[in-house]
Amino acid sequence: MLRKTKSTSTTLYTFFKPSSPKQTKTDVNEKNLLINETNDSENYSLISDKICDPCDPANALPKYQLEKKERIMKGPFCPILEVYPRSKFGNTLRSFNKSWYLSFDWLEYSPKLDRAFCFPCRMFVTSSGLNAGYTDLAFTQVGFKNWNNATSKFKMHQNTKNHSHNVKAHSDFLNGKSINIVLDDCKTLLISQKEKQRQNNRSIMRRLIDVTLCLAKSGKPFRGHHENMSSVSKGLFLDFIDVLKKYDNVLENHLEKGALNAKYLSNRIQNDLLTCINNVMKRTIQSKIKNRTVSIMADETSDVGHHEQMSVIIRYFDEEKCQPIEYFIGLQRLLSVTSEAIFNSLSIQISNLNIEWKSVIAVCFDGASAMSGKFNGVQAKVKELNPNISYVHCYGHCLNLVLVDCLGSKNRVIFDFFGCVQLIYSFIEGSPSRHAVLERIVQETNIKLKTLKSLSTTRWACRSESVSAIENNYLILFDFICINAKRLFTYSNNDIT
Ligand SMILES: [Zn+2]
Repeated sequence: MLRKTKSTSTTLYTFFKPSSPKQTKTDVNEKNLLINETNDSENYSLISDKICDPCDPANALPKYQLEKKERIMKGPFCPILEVYPRSKFGNTLRSFNKSWYLSFDWLEYSPKLDRAFCFPCRMFVTSSGLNAGYTDLAFTQVGFKNWNNATSKFKMHQNTKNHSHNVKAHSDFLNGKSINIVLDDCKTLLISQKEKQRQNNRSIMRRLIDVTLCLAKSGKPFRGHHENMSSVSKGLFLDFIDVLKKYDNVLENHLEKGALNAKYLSNRIQNDLLTCINNVMKRTIQSKIKNRTVSIMADETSDVGHHEQMSVIIRYFDEEKCQPIEYFIGLQRLLSVTSEAIFNSLSIQISNLNIEWKSVIAVCFDGASAMSGKFNGVQAKVKELNPNISYVHCYGHCLNLVLVDCLGSKNRVIFDFFGCVQLIYSFIEGSPSRHAVLERIVQETNIKLKTLKSLSTTRWACRSESVSAIENNYLILFDFICINAKRLFTYSNNDIT
């Protein structure tokens, strides 16, 4: 350890401007801390403008946080003087020793007061938490000047719990981040947590939307009779979710740990999802047909609920794909089937897609007078708004009319043929036991059976499927008829005997 240097008082007096020493309030209070202090120290009046550094521990701590922070960043005030003022302890003159800076990195010295302080304790003594409580005033406010037992006193202070806490606070301050960065970090953390939650919510909604799309595309019913989760007939939507939950952690966590009032499985949510999907599809169609000329196909019929429904299809030509594209717009319930009501409903449907009648080049309806009437039909009403619109009598309806008129009733052979086709269907499918015989023959012959179909009463073109089924199953049907004929013959003979 370095010892104090040889006194050169003459040099000091010429270097520092002498001034009268000040007796401060703290000096009075610390009498018990300073032992054997003599007037000798007053001979060393080191207070001068040159050594009155703002960082001197004798000065009050900065009032504002920013200034205090700057002060802390500068570290302990450790002035290196050629000679430190000496004080008499017993018969010996002693002074502060600059080598103590090396042994105690927290130590600082005030030339103004000729006293030592503890930098961390002075800076963080007012902190709350661990640092609250007892503080060693000798090293924080008054200053330490007992140079006689300095080293042992320093060690004692260094080992105090309070000092350790203050050193820790100082270390945390130096290693920590500025308040702005800390706030930014908190904000970033908050945003990342929100983003994580948002992504999770989106994952859940994607699954619900996919289930909705799957059922909607195939026209399956969503709801069941009893929709509580323990029911066996809660509907396809909830059944799908139940199955997915077994294999998907995201959905499982959502349903098991999520809020009970935010599971997004209710029938209202199902309808909302369908509405949202419909809106997205509508916007997509709107963008596709924007600034294009289109044609409109519409037809109405009654559903199983005895509601009159009108279906509307938009058709346009895609130049990139070089082919006509058709979009089914939707079903619109009609409360009246007059041409006026149908026209109004049609106008609403196309206006929802931002289509104006002036951009329509053709309409396609069936031959019903309400639709195709030249004077009062829907055809006439659309031509009032745009005379360039062409009316096309639906080719499908035309074909059906041609077949009915040409073959249905006027040609006896064809009439009998279709009568026979329908008779075969009714004979086999009208009886479960006869259908069972047909299945047995299929198993024995190992021939693939094509399902028999009844004749369509409205669409003649659809009758081809009935005829096709008879043609494909001809061998099976022949065996079937032979077996049934033998049975009938046996039954008749037994009945006679
Ligand atoms: Zn300390």
